[in-house]
Amino acid sequence: MSDRILIVGAGQAGIQLADSLRREGHDGEITLIGAEKIAPYQRPPLSKAFLLDQMEESRLPLRPDAFFDQRNITPRFGATVTSIDRAAKTVTLETGEQLPYDKLALCLGADVFVPPIPGSDLPHVLALRGLNDSLKLKSALVTARSVAVIGGGFIGLEVAASARKVGKTVTIIEAVDRVMKRAVSEQVSRFFEDLHRSHGSTLHLGALISEITPTEVRLQDSTAIAADLVVLGTGVRPCNVLALNAGLVCENGIQVDEFTQTSDPDIVAVGDCAAHPNYLTGKILRLESVQNAIDQAKIAAKTLTGQRAPYRAVPWFWSDQFDIKLQMAGLSGDTDQAITRGDPASRSFSIFYFANGQLMAVDSINAPADHMAARRILAKDDRALLPEQAADPAFDLKLAF
Ligand SMILES: Cc1cc2nc3c(=O)[nH]c(=O)nc-3n(C[C@H](O)[C@H](O)[C@H](O)COP(=O)(O)OP(=O)(O)OC[C@H]3O[C@@H](n4cnc5c(N)ncnc54)[C@H](O)[C@@H]3O)c2cc1C
Repeated sequence: MSDRILIVGAGQAGIQLADSLRREGHDGEITLIGAEKIAPYQRPPLSKAFLLDQMEESRLPLRPDAFFDQRNITPRFGATVTSIDRAAKTVTLETGEQLPYDKLALCLGADVFVPPIPGSDLPHVLALRGLNDSLKLKSALVTARSVAVIGGGFIGLEVAASARKVGKTVTIIEAVDRVMKRAVSEQVSRFFEDLHRSHGSTLHLGALISEITPTEVRLQDSTAIAADLVVLGTGVRPCNVLALNAGLVCENGIQVDEFTQTSDPDIVAVGDCAAHPNYLTGKILRLESVQNAIDQAKIAAKTLTGQRAPYRAVPWFWSDQFDIKLQMAGLSGDTDQAITRGDPASRSFSIFYFANGQLMAVDSINAPADHMAARRILAKDDRALLPEQAADPAFDLKLAF
């Protein structure tokens, strides 16, 4: 238990891993290295409350300042690891400094994907991943009049809602035929498209961009959208270059097993950068969520302290857009039946997704009790909720867990 553990990446996963290692009884050195100059902070508010000035910057940190001394964790913020020498068991910082490790944890997160669109490098084109991006966007929103959001995924839609709330003209441009297509059913997509339209935003779906100019976003069908601020909500790519260069197996992220171990037994990987075998779907998945970062970090802490506990947490996620909270539990990708519970017109309902009659996921819209019940049902091996029970609002979901 006295191994020197180096954690590279001081975000949601990195700080949780440091914390959980102490909780699991690790008494050796823990060093938490982060490229950003500040202590780990919450990212979700950056597109929501923080962007809207409804949350102070002082509330963003994930742990109080005293945490590092109290837990005897050495923070190295503003330090970027540039290479890993697995044979020598060292990492090298951009300054040339080398740090030795017995066990290494890669919690590197993901980087914004900038699409190869002419003009995407113009100064009024912003992306959002970290605190500095959010501060920049917040100040750009003060003077902007018309905002074009490229990408109708969660972050794009949250930024679009925030921009609309502060009175900007908002246009959302999505390449595929519906918003949030990777994550939700058509019914949920259409609900959110109507929501944004009802607040006065314009949506272009199935729209391909030919060019961004200083004043417009031009579509391939010649539509010109006026925009003095353009926000890229075009997704992220896992940070896996360090791992690739070190010869670790990577494919859509750093490959790990159910214990978060990479192809090197002395290295784990956790969070947005890691692709894991998912117990619910049986597929190799890379999830980008707070839940995944936290729960996987807890498993990594067990692995690094010599325990064997597989990662089997129910995936869950949330998104806030205008007055609507979308909460998702499970994974709805490969399902064959979608059951609506509640009345969508009431703006409080859930969609229960089944595959071969077995519950796989639930999307809840302003229905937190359904969401909490779904997480508990999905956590059970038998997931014993029948489609007809899900459809019946009088059926007490508690009976299924
Ligand atoms: C605007 C926004 C809104 C979001 N909203 C939600 C939400 O509502 N719900 C939800 O569940 N999730 C949300 N997410 C996703 C969630 O924040 C991420 O899934 C989570 O932060 C992943 O944690 P992580 O530790 O894997 O990565 P990160 O939190 O990104 O941390 C990775 C850290 O590693 C550092 N790093 C990378 N490479 C190096 C290196 N070579 N050397 C040193 N340091 C390095 C990075 O600088 C970064 O600080 C949101 C994300 C964003 C950006």
